[in-house]
Order: sequence, then C-alpha cells, then structure tokens
Amino acid sequence: MKTVFSGIQPSGELHLGNYLGAIRNWTALQEEFFCYFCVVDYHAITQSYEPKEMKTRVFEMASDILACGVDPERSVLFVQSQVPEHTELCWILNSVAQFGDLSRMTQFKDKSQRQADNINVGLFDYPVLQSADILLYNAEAVPVGQDQVQHIEFARRIARGFNNRWGKVFKEPEAKLTSTPKIIGLDGKAKMSKSLGNTIALGATDKDIRKRINRAMTDPQREKREDTGNPDKCNVYSLHGFFSTDEDRTWVVDGCTTAGIGCVDCKKRLADNLIEHLTPIRTRKAELVANPDEVHDALNKGAEKARQSAAKTMTKVRKKLGLWQG
Ligand code: SF4
Repeated sequence: MKTVFSGIQPSGELHLGNYLGAIRNWTALQEEFFCYFCVVDYHAITQSYEPKEMKTRVFEMASDILACGVDPERSVLFVQSQVPEHTELCWILNSVAQFGDLSRMTQFKDKSQRQADNINVGLFDYPVLQSADILLYNAEAVPVGQDQVQHIEFARRIARGFNNRWGKVFKEPEAKLTSTPKIIGLDGKAKMSKSLGNTIALGATDKDIRKRINRAMTDPQREKREDTGNPDKCNVYSLHGFFSTDEDRTWVVDGCTTAGIGCVDCKKRLADNLIEHLTPIRTRKAELVANPDEVHDALNKGAEKARQSAAKTMTKVRKKLGLWQG
C-alpha cells in the first residue's frame, strides 16, 4: 500500500470549502492508501492568531475530520506539534533548500501581500516545513489542488538534494491532483473561505444553511423569474453537482433554461439535499463533542504511531549527516 500524507490547518470548524476540497477526499483515500492526516498547527502560527483559541480550533478540526469518516484505526490522524521530528527535520532540510526557490513561491508572495505587517521567516520557510511533513513519512503521494503543486515540486527537489548530498533516505513524493475543481464561494466570485464569509460551516443549523443558500449569487443574466438562465454560469448549480442526484440536476437544467423553475425553487432543493448530506456528519460531531475523550484518544494514538515512524526516519537522517549519536 502506498503512503499518503496530507495536512490541514486548524482553522476551527470545517466549512463546505475544505470539506469538498480536502476532507471528503481523505475518507476516500483511506480505501487505497496508508494515510497520515495531520492537523498542522505549526504552520498556523505563521499567521496572527489567538493562543487561547488554538486548542479549541484543533479540537473542532479533529472532531469534524472524524465525523466526516476518517477512521483513526486505519489512518494516522495526529497534530503536527505532537511530533517534534517535523521541526527537527525542517531545520536539517533548511540546509538543502535554496533561498531563490523559496522566494519564487507564489503562496509566499500572496501571503506576504495579505499580511504585509507580519512577513515572518516562518512564512518564507513554510514550504520547507511542508517538505519535512511529507518526507518524514516517506509519503509517495500528496493530495493537493493545483495551487499547491509548486510546493510538492519543491519537496521533490529537497528530497533529491538531500539524497545527493548525504545519501539516499527519501522518496520523491508526487502530487496527486484532486479531481475537485476550485470551490467558488456563495458570492460567486472568490474561492470558498471562512475569512471571506462566503461559505457554510459543516455544523451550521438547517435555518442558517437555508438562509445562506438563499443569499447565494446566481446567474446574473437571470434577473427576473421569467428570464431563462444558464446553469453553467451559476454557482448554485455547481453545488448541486456535489450534493444532488442526477435526477435533480436534470430538473435544474431543464427548469433553469426554460424558466420553468425559479431560483428560489432551485436553492430550496439544494438546501434540502445539503441538509440531508450533512445530517449524519453533524450527528456524529455532536456525539464526539459530548465525548471529547474519544477525540483526544484518537489524536494521542495517532501521535504515538506518527512518532514511531518519524523516529525511524530521523535515525537514518542523523546517521547520514554524521551527527553525534551518543
Ligand atoms: Fe442558478 Fe438555479 Fe437560478 Fe438557474 S435556477 S440561475 S441554476 S439558482
């Protein structure tokens, strides 16, 4: 079985964007791969945050991941800072990483613009820590969106650079492109994101889900009920693609292009289907919140398994580097 590594920042409760873009895919990956799923809290500290909220954010994220179907018996689910080898390997890989490569990273440039008052070295070094996350477990595949391919290519160069300089330890990981396209937010403009407020939390109430979908942007050509519309230009229809049956999607296409249905009907059907889809996830999440020890146990066991594997890699790394072994 090939090994996969994937990480997610502890941004608190999952929302539709990261559910569709990552976590839904994680549950499917478990069928085919041996998976390390990591809540990357060390990556999160490169941005401003409230330390008092970090534990809650990690708990929320981990319990949502479990509620979505990640099985801690089959996969290794853990928190990055519980495995110190991540930062240890990052430091070593810093001696392979090239300054020029890092300064060309698109994500660094984007983040530097967004937090111009806090362009810290961690932000610059982010791809090296990400390489350490992946290489520590000799992951062969990393599920990513197109925007992360540059970082995986960088991780491959780092693995090659290390192997050439000190001897072979690491496999070169491959980007496993997720089939899910960029998830556009309910505003119909930007990528779905919690900070932009254009998404829906997985734990939202039925009332909130309906309210948010009712406000979603539709095909701008369809101004009045009697106007015909083009579902391919409507983000509501793209969400039907994830949560509705073929029959419902045909109903939308036929109704929208002939003005046989209004946007209100279309959105109501989407909300009904989304609520049905999320109900078992929300029920499981409520059970986990009522029994937090189950989440703590899963994360502790995951960290233990990850540490065992990471320690083996670091023994090889230290030997290759000729470090003092005691
Ligand atoms: Fe969009 Fe549905 Fe309205 Fe067509 S009927 S414009 S697909 S919301």
